[in-house]
Amino acid sequence: MTLKTAKSRAYFKELRRYLPCGAHRHFYKSGIRPLTPFVDGHGARLRDMDGNEHLDLVCEYGASLVGHGNQRYNERLKSQIDRVVSVDQAGLEAGVCERLVRYVPSAEWVRFGLSGTEVIQNALRLSRAYTGRERVLRFLGHYHGSADSVMGGTPRSQADPRAQEYDGDGYFTEGRAPGALDQDTLLIPWNDVDALERVFRDHGDQLAAIMMEPVALNSGGMLPAPGYLETARRLCDRHGVVFILDEVITGFRMALGGAQSVFGVTPDLTILGKAMSGGAVPVSALVGRRDIMDLYDRQRVVHCGTYNGYPLGLAAVEATMNLLEEDPDCYQRMGGHLLEIARTLTDAARDVGLPLVVQGIPTGMSAHVCAEPLRRPEDYTPELQTRDGLVKAVCEGHGIQFAPRYFRLYCNLMLNDDDVAFFRDRIHGALHEAKEVLLSMDDPVALQAAG
Ligand code: PMP
Repeated sequence: MTLKTAKSRAYFKELRRYLPCGAHRHFYKSGIRPLTPFVDGHGARLRDMDGNEHLDLVCEYGASLVGHGNQRYNERLKSQIDRVVSVDQAGLEAGVCERLVRYVPSAEWVRFGLSGTEVIQNALRLSRAYTGRERVLRFLGHYHGSADSVMGGTPRSQADPRAQEYDGDGYFTEGRAPGALDQDTLLIPWNDVDALERVFRDHGDQLAAIMMEPVALNSGGMLPAPGYLETARRLCDRHGVVFILDEVITGFRMALGGAQSVFGVTPDLTILGKAMSGGAVPVSALVGRRDIMDLYDRQRVVHCGTYNGYPLGLAAVEATMNLLEEDPDCYQRMGGHLLEIARTLTDAARDVGLPLVVQGIPTGMSAHVCAEPLRRPEDYTPELQTRDGLVKAVCEGHGIQFAPRYFRLYCNLMLNDDDVAFFRDRIHGALHEAKEVLLSMDDPVALQAAG
């Protein structure tokens, strides 16, 4: 099945005159190809300029939690627009913060921002001031925004885990500030307790903070190994290091209290963003321990931002919380539908003769065209990323929009049985075509599967 795309292709041509890559964002040499502009949406469906219907499993990179055209959410935003928007405080702050503190285990104090990238930098500044140390430990494959100090790199060696530029994945960039990546960042593999213990033994007294995603959703969808988060927590306590959990994806998407409420491990500082405000307007937050964020209250550490805590954003957080609170079964329902989609995907792959695994959390998953689930971000090789990306791209031509990078599935509150049926109707043909494309490129996995 090939959708009509004349209008969106013409639009892309026009966009190329104004937007570099014809897009709002890109990674290093990630390629230039048209995206589908969507002009209407309802629930989990989108309609493009040519009138084709699509199933939205992108969910605005995980941010869109409430669904398209969610009436209750939209009414709340409209009513706030009609009351007051361009003021610093509008009377919504205390209520929203009270609920955040109630739900997110690590939250004692709250500061808002707009993007994950920005509040992550603020969390690092706070950690350095609190500990009087400079170094930050990060983990291979984990993504914490595109700022110079936190994006990509590779360790010099196992004995010397200082980060250095690495021109081998999408997280390389020219133009980084000298020293930003390599002077203060240590990088080790994630989910490897020995590597974690080693780095704390050798460098624990130099570390201001460690920062990780609780589930490696940006690098393959691996869950933390049993006991791994607990070990990180214990080592941070022993060495006086600030433990930062980046819950930009998992916050509100995995549970109202984030992954930390599910795994039972409480960090010192937490980064929230994306789904917290439902998906229509940007809001991020840095929440955490009172004695650390006290450096803000004593005005020793600066935190600024014109739009921090803006009324429309907080109204969106409030509306999202209302929807989640009033529908306590929503995580089970959403996750159930997405799991059904994942099962249908693996069944269809088996039918057409392609190996395929799906892993992650029920409300956010990563699919891979290979036989075994990935255990660590390093298992997500460039070859597998390319193969996953190709299959994802073919599915787009069948009206199924998986999320980048490279083949991800997210759900929103309005995903329903009809959407699962829509997926079932189309995925078989999509994967069949994807297999033909892979075979025509002599892809070894497709060739092997074809016998
Ligand atoms: N952390 C994680 C885990 C993310 O997935 C992202 C965005 N994909 C960010 C941080 C950066 O957030 P933002 O794009 O809002 O700056």
